[in-house]
Amino acid sequence: MLLNLGSINIDHVYRVPHLPEPGETLGAHSYGMGLGGKGANQSVAAARAGARILHIGAIGPEGHWARAAMADFGVDVTHIAKGEEPTGHAIIYVDAGAENVIVLYPGANRCVTGADVASALAEAGPGDSLLMQNETSAQVEAARLAAEKGLRVIYSAAPFDLQAVQAVLPHVSLLVMNEGEAAQLRAGLGSLPQVEMIVTKGAKGAEWLSPGAEPLVTPPFKVEPVDTTGAGDCFIGTLAAALDAGLGREEAMRRASAAAAIQVTRPGASQAMPTAEEVTAFLS
Ligand code: ATP
Repeated sequence: MLLNLGSINIDHVYRVPHLPEPGETLGAHSYGMGLGGKGANQSVAAARAGARILHIGAIGPEGHWARAAMADFGVDVTHIAKGEEPTGHAIIYVDAGAENVIVLYPGANRCVTGADVASALAEAGPGDSLLMQNETSAQVEAARLAAEKGLRVIYSAAPFDLQAVQAVLPHVSLLVMNEGEAAQLRAGLGSLPQVEMIVTKGAKGAEWLSPGAEPLVTPPFKVEPVDTTGAGDCFIGTLAAALDAGLGREEAMRRASAAAAIQVTRPGASQAMPTAEEVTAFLS
């Protein structure tokens, strides 16, 4: 089983004629609501990849829509707590040239407690995996408890926060970063840590780095991207699902790369995640 301690956001997307000036009141052409947050995106990717995925997170009083959307994608939502703090959300303005401005309110995502995590992890044991990112509270407690219980801890160090990475790192089995995050970690620590690590490189592919071994290089799949939002989340969710299913590194990396290559050819984030069947067909 795969568990994911992760953020859940509601994205409010407004198409506007131009980005608003200070003091301006601007009419929007259109409005749409979508499921967002790295955590939710990764859980959806893992569910579509065929994993049994239990999401650990929190929403506010108005968050039932997000929880229902995740359940529709096949995510186990029984450990998503409901509190008084508003659900995490993003207000996104997109202008005619696809330039955007985003205001993000973490809200309930920062209200996940160690007790919430412990109650979810009570259902897990050795051989299961815990996935995490940096958009919730309780990461250190989660990583420590999961490692103690013999789970594989997969940590996506995004959005990058050096202190958060340093606190979680001793309990991590696999660290996943994009090139920018890896550069920030190298700058912050003086060198990259000697741990199992994946660095994703956008259209250039991805590498799995193991201490004392040659890097496992996964070449990219050539596609025409239309929207790369959520590519990293797709890669990580698919990879975690593949490792949890017992696939080897090379095959897990290949499936994650293929899934992300499909995902960038579709608009949106969570709704663009491919199914296991689509990935298998793409690879055959
Ligand atoms: P994002 O912030 O857009 O979600 P990220 O910066 O976390 O993404 P990237 O390294 O950009 O992560 O992308 C993750 C993986 O997705 C890459 O390693 C690659 O496998 C795949 N990918 C991303 N962009 C492309 C592309 N243009 N063509 C093919 N594959 C891509």
